[in-house]
Amino acid sequence: MEGAKTLASLGEFGLIRELFTPLGRKDELVDQGIGDDAAVFSIPRTQQLLTTTDTLLEGIHFNSDMDPFLLARKALRVNLADIAAMGGLPKWYLLSIAVPPNKPLEWLEEFGRGLKEAGEQYDVFPIGGDTVGSKGPVVITITLFGIVGEDRAMKRSGAQVGDKIFVSGTIGDSALGLSQRLGSLQVRSREDLVYLKHRHQLPEPRLALGALLQESSLPHACIDVSDGLVADLGHICAASGVGAEIDVAKIPFSEAAKRQVADHGEALLGIMLTGGEDYELLFTVAPGMAEQLVADAAEKTGVMVTEIGQVVKSDDHKPVVLKDGEAMSLSGQGWTHF
Ligand code: ADP
Ligand code: MG
Repeated sequence: MEGAKTLASLGEFGLIRELFTPLGRKDELVDQGIGDDAAVFSIPRTQQLLTTTDTLLEGIHFNSDMDPFLLARKALRVNLADIAAMGGLPKWYLLSIAVPPNKPLEWLEEFGRGLKEAGEQYDVFPIGGDTVGSKGPVVITITLFGIVGEDRAMKRSGAQVGDKIFVSGTIGDSALGLSQRLGSLQVRSREDLVYLKHRHQLPEPRLALGALLQESSLPHACIDVSDGLVADLGHICAASGVGAEIDVAKIPFSEAAKRQVADHGEALLGIMLTGGEDYELLFTVAPGMAEQLVADAAEKTGVMVTEIGQVVKSDDHKPVVLKDGEAMSLSGQGWTHF
Protein backbone atom coordinates (compact mmCIF):
# COMPACT_ATOMS: atom_id res chain seq x y z
CA MET A 1 0.00 0.00 0.00
CA GLU A 2 2.22 2.82 -1.24
CA GLY A 3 1.59 6.17 0.35
CA ALA A 4 -0.62 4.59 2.99
CA LYS A 5 -0.25 6.06 6.45
CA THR A 6 1.82 3.88 8.71
CA LEU A 7 2.14 3.47 12.42
CA ALA A 8 5.38 5.50 12.34
CA SER A 9 3.42 8.59 11.34
CA LEU A 10 1.17 8.30 14.40
CA GLY A 11 3.76 7.22 16.97
CA GLU A 12 3.39 5.19 20.13
CA PHE A 13 1.40 7.74 22.07
CA GLY A 14 -0.71 8.72 19.10
CA LEU A 15 -1.63 5.09 18.67
CA ILE A 16 -2.56 4.67 22.31
CA ARG A 17 -4.57 7.90 22.27
CA GLU A 18 -6.35 7.27 19.00
CA LEU A 19 -6.95 3.54 19.11
CA PHE A 20 -6.72 2.12 22.59
CA THR A 21 -7.80 4.85 25.03
CA PRO A 22 -11.24 5.17 23.36
CA LEU A 23 -11.89 1.49 24.15
CA GLY A 24 -11.86 2.22 27.89
CA ARG A 25 -15.16 2.51 29.72
CA LYS A 26 -16.55 3.76 32.98
CA ASP A 27 -16.71 1.08 35.63
CA GLU A 28 -17.25 1.63 39.33
CA LEU A 29 -14.58 -0.96 40.10
CA VAL A 30 -11.92 0.78 37.99
CA ASP A 31 -10.34 3.90 39.57
CA GLN A 32 -7.73 4.28 36.86
CA GLY A 33 -7.74 2.67 33.45
CA ILE A 34 -5.48 3.46 30.48
CA GLY A 35 -3.36 6.58 31.06
CA ASP A 36 -1.27 6.14 34.18
CA ASP A 37 1.71 4.01 35.14
CA ALA A 38 -0.55 1.23 36.34
CA ALA A 39 -4.26 0.55 36.40
CA VAL A 40 -6.11 0.68 39.71
CA PHE A 41 -9.16 -1.46 40.27
CA SER A 42 -11.04 -3.24 43.02
CA ILE A 43 -12.90 -6.47 43.11
CA PRO A 44 -16.03 -7.06 45.19
CA ARG A 45 -15.28 -8.50 48.64
CA THR A 46 -17.02 -11.79 48.01
CA GLN A 47 -15.19 -12.46 44.75
CA GLN A 48 -11.80 -13.81 43.71
CA LEU A 49 -9.75 -12.44 40.84
CA LEU A 50 -9.06 -14.70 37.86
CA THR A 51 -6.33 -13.84 35.43
CA THR A 52 -5.13 -15.46 32.24
CA THR A 53 -2.89 -14.50 29.35
CA ASP A 54 -2.36 -15.68 25.79
CA THR A 55 0.11 -14.62 23.15
CA LEU A 56 -0.56 -14.73 19.42
CA LEU A 57 2.58 -14.67 17.33
CA GLU A 58 2.61 -13.85 13.63
CA GLY A 59 3.88 -16.85 11.68
CA ILE A 60 2.94 -19.27 14.47
CA HIS A 61 -0.63 -18.51 15.52
CA PHE A 62 -1.69 -16.46 12.55
CA ASN A 63 -0.44 -15.62 9.07
CA SER A 64 0.57 -12.11 8.12
CA ASP A 65 -2.42 -11.93 5.78
CA MET A 66 -4.93 -12.65 8.56
CA ASP A 67 -7.68 -10.07 8.71
CA PRO A 68 -6.81 -7.85 11.72
CA PHE A 69 -10.50 -7.43 12.56
CA LEU A 70 -10.74 -11.20 13.01
CA LEU A 71 -7.37 -11.42 14.71
CA ALA A 72 -8.32 -8.98 17.46
CA ARG A 73 -11.54 -10.80 18.15
CA LYS A 74 -9.77 -14.16 18.25
CA ALA A 75 -7.07 -12.79 20.59
CA LEU A 76 -9.74 -11.74 23.06
CA ARG A 77 -11.89 -14.83 22.61
CA VAL A 78 -9.13 -17.32 23.40
CA ASN A 79 -8.60 -15.56 26.71
CA LEU A 80 -12.34 -15.42 27.34
CA ALA A 81 -12.46 -19.21 26.89
CA ASP A 82 -10.06 -19.58 29.85
CA ILE A 83 -12.29 -17.47 32.08
CA ALA A 84 -15.29 -19.51 30.88
CA ALA A 85 -13.50 -22.73 31.86
CA MET A 86 -13.05 -21.42 35.41
CA GLY A 87 -16.72 -20.43 35.58
CA GLY A 88 -15.94 -16.72 35.92
CA LEU A 89 -17.20 -13.40 34.66
CA PRO A 90 -14.68 -11.59 32.42
CA LYS A 91 -14.12 -7.91 33.21
CA TRP A 92 -10.96 -6.14 31.96
CA TYR A 93 -7.82 -6.77 29.98
CA LEU A 94 -4.28 -5.59 29.32
CA LEU A 95 -3.14 -5.45 25.71
CA SER A 96 0.52 -5.70 24.79
CA ILE A 97 1.28 -5.30 21.14
CA ALA A 98 4.58 -5.40 19.27
CA VAL A 99 4.19 -4.18 15.74
CA PRO A 100 6.62 -3.09 12.99
CA PRO A 101 6.65 0.71 12.44
CA ASN A 102 5.80 0.31 8.75
CA LYS A 103 2.52 -1.42 9.50
CA PRO A 104 -0.27 0.41 7.68
CA LEU A 105 -2.42 2.42 10.03
CA GLU A 106 -5.44 0.84 8.45
CA TRP A 107 -4.32 -2.54 9.80
CA LEU A 108 -4.23 -1.14 13.32
CA GLU A 109 -7.56 0.58 12.91
CA GLU A 110 -9.14 -2.69 11.87
CA PHE A 111 -7.46 -4.38 14.82
CA GLY A 112 -8.93 -1.72 17.11
CA ARG A 113 -12.34 -2.19 15.54
CA GLY A 114 -12.11 -5.93 16.32
CA LEU A 115 -11.24 -5.20 19.96
CA LYS A 116 -14.17 -2.82 20.19
CA GLU A 117 -16.61 -5.31 18.73
CA ALA A 118 -15.46 -8.20 20.94
CA GLY A 119 -15.33 -5.90 23.97
CA GLU A 120 -18.93 -4.87 23.45
CA GLN A 121 -20.06 -8.41 22.76
CA TYR A 122 -18.50 -9.84 25.92
CA ASP A 123 -18.59 -6.73 28.10
CA VAL A 124 -14.85 -6.36 28.65
CA PHE A 125 -12.53 -3.39 28.09
CA PRO A 126 -8.82 -2.57 28.29
CA ILE A 127 -7.36 -0.97 31.43
CA GLY A 128 -3.81 -0.75 30.12
CA GLY A 129 -1.15 -2.39 28.05
CA ASP A 130 2.11 -1.82 26.29
CA THR A 131 2.94 -0.75 22.76
CA VAL A 132 6.34 -1.46 21.27
CA GLY A 133 7.95 -1.49 17.83
CA SER A 134 8.92 -4.87 16.40
CA LYS A 135 11.74 -5.60 13.96
CA GLY A 136 10.05 -8.86 13.11
CA PRO A 137 6.61 -10.33 13.56
CA VAL A 138 3.52 -8.83 15.14
CA VAL A 139 3.11 -10.16 18.68
CA ILE A 140 -0.13 -9.73 20.57
CA THR A 141 -0.51 -10.59 24.24
CA ILE A 142 -3.80 -10.13 26.00
CA THR A 143 -4.05 -10.58 29.75
CA LEU A 144 -7.63 -10.88 30.83
CA PHE A 145 -9.03 -10.39 34.33
CA GLY A 146 -12.27 -11.90 35.52
CA ILE A 147 -14.04 -12.48 38.80
CA VAL A 148 -15.64 -15.50 40.39
CA GLY A 149 -17.25 -16.14 43.78
CA GLU A 150 -14.93 -17.16 46.58
CA ASP A 151 -13.86 -20.82 46.25
CA ARG A 152 -16.13 -21.19 43.25
CA ALA A 153 -13.57 -21.42 40.44
CA MET A 154 -13.69 -24.71 38.52
CA LYS A 155 -10.23 -26.23 38.48
CA ARG A 156 -8.70 -29.14 36.59
CA SER A 157 -7.81 -31.04 39.71
CA GLY A 158 -11.07 -32.36 41.15
CA ALA A 159 -12.05 -35.22 38.81
CA GLN A 160 -13.01 -38.40 40.67
CA VAL A 161 -12.99 -42.02 39.56
CA GLY A 162 -16.50 -42.84 38.32
CA ASP A 163 -17.27 -39.32 37.11
CA LYS A 164 -18.84 -38.99 33.69
CA ILE A 165 -17.01 -36.82 31.16
CA PHE A 166 -18.86 -34.18 29.15
CA VAL A 167 -17.93 -31.83 26.34
CA SER A 168 -19.79 -28.86 24.86
CA GLY A 169 -20.45 -28.13 21.18
CA THR A 170 -18.56 -30.14 18.59
CA ILE A 171 -14.93 -31.24 18.44
CA GLY A 172 -12.49 -31.10 15.53
CA ASP A 173 -14.00 -28.39 13.34
CA SER A 174 -11.21 -25.97 14.11
CA ALA A 175 -8.48 -28.53 13.37
CA LEU A 176 -10.14 -29.28 10.03
CA GLY A 177 -10.40 -25.56 9.24
CA LEU A 178 -6.69 -25.22 9.96
CA SER A 179 -5.78 -28.32 7.90
CA GLN A 180 -7.68 -26.84 4.99
CA ARG A 181 -5.78 -23.57 5.31
CA LEU A 182 -2.46 -25.39 5.46
CA GLY A 183 -3.36 -27.25 2.28
CA SER A 184 -3.50 -30.73 3.81
CA LEU A 185 -7.28 -31.08 3.53
CA GLN A 186 -9.49 -30.42 0.58
CA VAL A 187 -13.02 -29.55 1.59
CA ARG A 188 -15.43 -30.28 -1.22
CA SER A 189 -18.50 -28.31 -0.29
CA ARG A 190 -18.32 -24.55 -0.16
CA GLU A 191 -20.71 -24.46 2.78
CA ASP A 192 -18.57 -26.86 4.83
CA LEU A 193 -15.49 -24.85 3.95
CA VAL A 194 -17.02 -21.62 5.23
CA TYR A 195 -18.22 -23.32 8.41
CA LEU A 196 -14.91 -25.06 9.23
CA LYS A 197 -12.85 -21.95 8.50
CA HIS A 198 -15.11 -19.90 10.71
CA ARG A 199 -14.78 -22.38 13.57
CA HIS A 200 -11.01 -22.05 13.34
CA GLN A 201 -10.83 -18.30 12.95
CA LEU A 202 -13.46 -17.25 15.43
CA PRO A 203 -13.94 -19.59 18.38
CA GLU A 204 -16.94 -19.11 20.63
CA PRO A 205 -16.00 -18.78 24.31
CA ARG A 206 -18.60 -20.71 26.31
CA LEU A 207 -19.05 -18.07 28.99
CA ALA A 208 -22.73 -18.62 29.69
CA LEU A 209 -22.19 -22.37 29.93
CA GLY A 210 -19.17 -21.91 32.18
CA ALA A 211 -21.22 -19.72 34.52
CA LEU A 212 -24.08 -22.22 34.51
CA LEU A 213 -21.73 -25.09 35.35
CA GLN A 214 -20.09 -23.11 38.11
CA GLU A 215 -23.44 -22.09 39.63
CA SER A 216 -24.62 -25.71 39.59
CA SER A 217 -21.59 -26.77 41.72
CA LEU A 218 -21.69 -30.07 39.82
CA PRO A 219 -18.44 -30.21 37.82
CA HIS A 220 -15.54 -31.73 39.73
CA ALA A 221 -13.09 -30.54 37.07
CA CYS A 222 -13.29 -28.31 34.02
CA ILE A 223 -10.95 -27.16 31.24
CA ASP A 224 -11.32 -25.46 27.88
CA VAL A 225 -10.20 -27.47 24.88
CA SER A 226 -7.35 -25.41 23.47
CA ASP A 227 -4.59 -28.01 22.97
CA GLY A 228 -6.89 -30.77 21.69
CA LEU A 229 -9.54 -32.96 23.30
CA VAL A 230 -7.12 -35.76 24.21
CA ALA A 231 -4.38 -33.44 25.49
CA ASP A 232 -6.76 -31.37 27.57
CA LEU A 233 -8.45 -34.44 29.01
CA GLY A 234 -4.90 -35.52 29.82
CA HIS A 235 -4.43 -32.26 31.73
CA ILE A 236 -7.49 -33.03 33.85
CA CYS A 237 -6.20 -36.58 34.42
CA ALA A 238 -2.73 -35.40 35.44
CA ALA A 239 -4.06 -32.67 37.74
CA SER A 240 -6.61 -35.03 39.31
CA GLY A 241 -4.44 -38.15 39.50
CA VAL A 242 -6.90 -40.27 37.50
CA GLY A 243 -7.33 -41.83 34.07
CA ALA A 244 -10.13 -41.44 31.56
CA GLU A 245 -11.83 -43.48 28.88
CA ILE A 246 -13.74 -41.79 26.13
CA ASP A 247 -15.59 -43.47 23.28
CA VAL A 248 -15.03 -42.02 19.82
CA ALA A 249 -18.58 -43.01 18.84
CA LYS A 250 -19.93 -40.62 21.50
CA ILE A 251 -17.77 -37.60 20.66
CA PRO A 252 -19.91 -34.86 19.09
CA PHE A 253 -18.84 -33.98 15.56
CA SER A 254 -20.51 -31.44 13.31
CA GLU A 255 -22.20 -32.58 10.12
CA ALA A 256 -19.51 -30.72 8.18
CA ALA A 257 -16.77 -32.61 10.04
CA LYS A 258 -18.53 -35.95 9.53
CA ARG A 259 -18.65 -35.27 5.81
CA GLN A 260 -14.87 -34.75 5.80
CA VAL A 261 -14.36 -38.09 7.55
CA ALA A 262 -16.68 -39.74 5.01
CA ASP A 263 -14.75 -38.13 2.13
CA HIS A 264 -11.19 -38.56 3.38
CA GLY A 265 -11.26 -41.50 5.78
CA GLU A 266 -11.04 -42.08 9.49
CA ALA A 267 -7.42 -40.99 9.71
CA LEU A 268 -8.91 -37.50 10.03
CA LEU A 269 -10.27 -38.46 13.44
CA GLY A 270 -6.75 -38.27 14.84
CA ILE A 271 -6.43 -34.67 13.72
CA MET A 272 -9.85 -33.81 15.07
CA LEU A 273 -9.19 -35.29 18.51
CA THR A 274 -5.73 -33.82 18.93
CA GLY A 275 -5.73 -30.69 16.77
CA GLY A 276 -7.03 -28.25 19.33
CA GLU A 277 -8.44 -24.74 19.29
CA ASP A 278 -11.96 -26.00 19.81
CA TYR A 279 -12.37 -23.80 22.90
CA GLU A 280 -15.24 -26.00 24.04
CA LEU A 281 -15.64 -26.88 27.72
CA LEU A 282 -14.64 -30.34 28.92
CA PHE A 283 -15.76 -31.29 32.43
CA THR A 284 -16.55 -34.17 34.76
CA VAL A 285 -19.63 -34.73 36.93
CA ALA A 286 -20.54 -37.51 39.38
CA PRO A 287 -22.58 -40.27 37.69
CA GLY A 288 -26.32 -39.68 37.45
CA MET A 289 -26.03 -36.01 38.41
CA ALA A 290 -25.86 -34.23 35.07
CA GLU A 291 -29.20 -34.85 33.41
CA GLN A 292 -30.77 -31.57 34.50
CA LEU A 293 -27.53 -29.72 33.82
CA VAL A 294 -27.41 -30.94 30.22
CA ALA A 295 -31.04 -29.90 29.71
CA ASP A 296 -30.41 -26.48 31.29
CA ALA A 297 -27.35 -25.95 29.12
CA ALA A 298 -29.40 -26.49 25.98
CA GLU A 299 -32.36 -24.44 27.18
CA LYS A 300 -30.58 -21.51 28.85
CA THR A 301 -27.38 -21.22 26.85
CA GLY A 302 -28.28 -22.93 23.59
CA VAL A 303 -25.15 -25.08 23.86
CA MET A 304 -25.25 -28.83 23.37
CA VAL A 305 -23.45 -30.85 26.04
CA THR A 306 -22.57 -34.50 25.34
CA GLU A 307 -21.40 -37.32 27.60
CA ILE A 308 -18.33 -38.93 26.04
CA GLY A 309 -16.88 -41.27 28.67
CA GLN A 310 -15.83 -41.71 32.27
CA VAL A 311 -13.05 -41.12 34.71
CA VAL A 312 -11.23 -44.33 35.65
CA LYS A 313 -8.36 -45.44 37.86
CA SER A 314 -5.02 -45.35 36.11
CA ASP A 315 -1.37 -45.30 37.04
CA ASP A 316 -0.11 -43.23 34.15
CA HIS A 317 -2.94 -40.67 34.29
CA LYS A 318 -3.35 -40.77 30.53
CA PRO A 319 -6.69 -40.77 28.74
CA VAL A 320 -7.64 -43.65 26.46
CA VAL A 321 -9.80 -43.16 23.37
CA LEU A 322 -11.83 -46.26 22.58
CA LYS A 323 -13.03 -47.18 19.12
CA ASP A 324 -15.22 -50.29 18.92
CA GLY A 325 -13.95 -51.17 22.39
CA GLU A 326 -10.25 -50.94 21.48
CA ALA A 327 -7.77 -48.21 22.37
CA MET A 328 -6.99 -45.97 19.41
CA SER A 329 -3.39 -44.95 18.91
CA LEU A 330 -3.26 -41.27 18.22
CA SER A 331 0.00 -40.03 16.76
CA GLY A 332 -0.11 -36.44 17.93
CA GLN A 333 -1.50 -36.13 21.43
CA GLY A 334 -2.09 -32.43 21.09
CA TRP A 335 -0.48 -29.17 20.29
CA THR A 336 2.78 -28.31 22.04
CA HIS A 337 5.27 -25.62 21.14
CA PHE A 338 8.51 -27.44 21.85
P1 ADP B 1 4.76 3.35 30.94
O1 ADP B 1 5.86 3.86 30.09
O2 ADP B 1 4.57 4.07 32.22
O3 ADP B 1 4.77 1.86 31.08
P2 ADP B 1 3.25 3.65 28.56
O4 ADP B 1 3.76 4.90 28.00
O5 ADP B 1 3.76 2.35 28.03
O6 ADP B 1 3.41 3.68 30.13
O7 ADP B 1 1.66 3.61 28.41
C1 ADP B 1 0.88 4.73 28.73
C2 ADP B 1 -0.49 4.27 29.12
O8 ADP B 1 -1.12 3.66 27.99
C3 ADP B 1 -0.49 3.24 30.23
O9 ADP B 1 -1.64 3.44 31.02
C4 ADP B 1 -0.61 1.93 29.50
O10 ADP B 1 -1.23 0.94 30.30
C5 ADP B 1 -1.47 2.32 28.30
N1 ADP B 1 -1.20 1.51 27.12
C6 ADP B 1 -0.03 1.40 26.44
N2 ADP B 1 -0.16 0.56 25.39
C7 ADP B 1 -1.43 0.12 25.41
C8 ADP B 1 -2.17 -0.77 24.61
N3 ADP B 1 -1.64 -1.42 23.57
N4 ADP B 1 -3.48 -0.99 24.95
C9 ADP B 1 -4.01 -0.39 26.01
N5 ADP B 1 -3.38 0.47 26.79
C10 ADP B 1 -2.10 0.73 26.52
MG1 MG C 1 5.66 1.17 28.18
